[in-house]
Amino acid sequence: MTKILSDKKFSIQIQGCRTNQYEGEAIAAALEACGARRCDESPDIVVIVTCAITAVADRKCRKLIRRARREHPNAVIAACGCSSQKMTARDAEELGLDIAIGNRRKYTLPRLVAERLAGAPRFHEINEKIMTDESWDALSLDRPRLHTRAFLKVQDGCAHYCAYCIVPFVRGKPVSRPMDEAIEEARRITESGCPEIVLTGIHLGLYENLPELVRRIGGLPKLKRLRFGSIEPFAVDEALLAALAETPAFCEHLHMPLQSGDAGVLADMRRGYAPEEFAKVAERARAALGDELHISTDLMIGFPTESRAAFRNSMNFIKSVEFGKIHVFPFSPRSGTKAAAMPPVPEAELKERTAEALEAAAELHKKFCARRLGREITILTEEIKNGAARGLTRNYIRAEAPARGTRVNEELTLTPARYADETLFAAETPSAGFSEEISVI
Ligand code: SF4
Repeated sequence: MTKILSDKKFSIQIQGCRTNQYEGEAIAAALEACGARRCDESPDIVVIVTCAITAVADRKCRKLIRRARREHPNAVIAACGCSSQKMTARDAEELGLDIAIGNRRKYTLPRLVAERLAGAPRFHEINEKIMTDESWDALSLDRPRLHTRAFLKVQDGCAHYCAYCIVPFVRGKPVSRPMDEAIEEARRITESGCPEIVLTGIHLGLYENLPELVRRIGGLPKLKRLRFGSIEPFAVDEALLAALAETPAFCEHLHMPLQSGDAGVLADMRRGYAPEEFAKVAERARAALGDELHISTDLMIGFPTESRAAFRNSMNFIKSVEFGKIHVFPFSPRSGTKAAAMPPVPEAELKERTAEALEAAAELHKKFCARRLGREITILTEEIKNGAARGLTRNYIRAEAPARGTRVNEELTLTPARYADETLFAAETPSAGFSEEISVI
């Protein structure tokens, strides 16, 4: 395999969540370990890590595959992940894929690519046993290549079956990564010079002993910052909050998906909590982790049973909880889920509500950030360009300041003077023209 992949150029495109980001990073690491190098110019191999969370995400992945086929007619085009898990052999062929594999099989990708380069036929395999499969997709990471912070996947799968969600059907049975293996990987990553780890999973709260994992990873000597990608509110209990509070590296930020602030809609979604319960979790989290805690969330607009009154309840609720960043997205039916059979909210109404929610979200983020104006904050530098440094505060606010000799992955303290484009700026920050970060839900 190493002989065939040696000196081959590969390009990788990762769609979707932080778990996908980890998997894409780990695939890149595995290809590099076989001698291939990442290069977007005339690649021999194109890997697309797909997402199926919404119909739009699914369509975007297919578009990327078609474009890769068109632009690189001689390359091996490989797709893996959630959208691939739903593909028939015919779909894969029509898209022009050389390799299409589903979930819990991504670790096989470098071998399959090498075999295809050596002349093996096209390969299509979805995981038929995904709902009962207890195996771990044996990928691993030594250091991040595509981001400055490292996403570390410790959990896969979900059995919660929210009424709108396709994920349990494509990610399958919940499994936890053995703790010693996760800690060893975290140790390797921090010793490579990466000071920030983001623990990820499809339903991270289902990890068999998350408080202990946090304490042990949090104790690694070279780790500066530890975060969760996203955690379901019903998994945030006293034991977990105690572990987070006792772990100095754990950053003051929790992303807890709310989806709706209306009791009836939450029940129809089968989320497993009422708005008041979410509010109590937020209150307990603030009491445990302090005033700097940033609670961000996902908000779904236009679930089929969302009436205008229910939408108003959601708007009032997000203001009462004082979220910081809110990822607003319109409902899209996913075939095979309970909500797909329900009559949808009319398109015009959906657009109007989404626009209003986006406006409210922007206002809340501004309000949250405005409290930091004039107060000293510290960022961990992710990018430096045209004399400006850019990074995130511990509580997940993007900020920019004159770089003044700071290097990537170093801390920089600044006093923000203004807020624009969801970012805090120090006075006299040069206009650096950073490109936007890959959007990760
Ligand atoms: S908890 Fe609900 S929304 Fe999250 S992955 Fe599971 S089914 Fe989907």
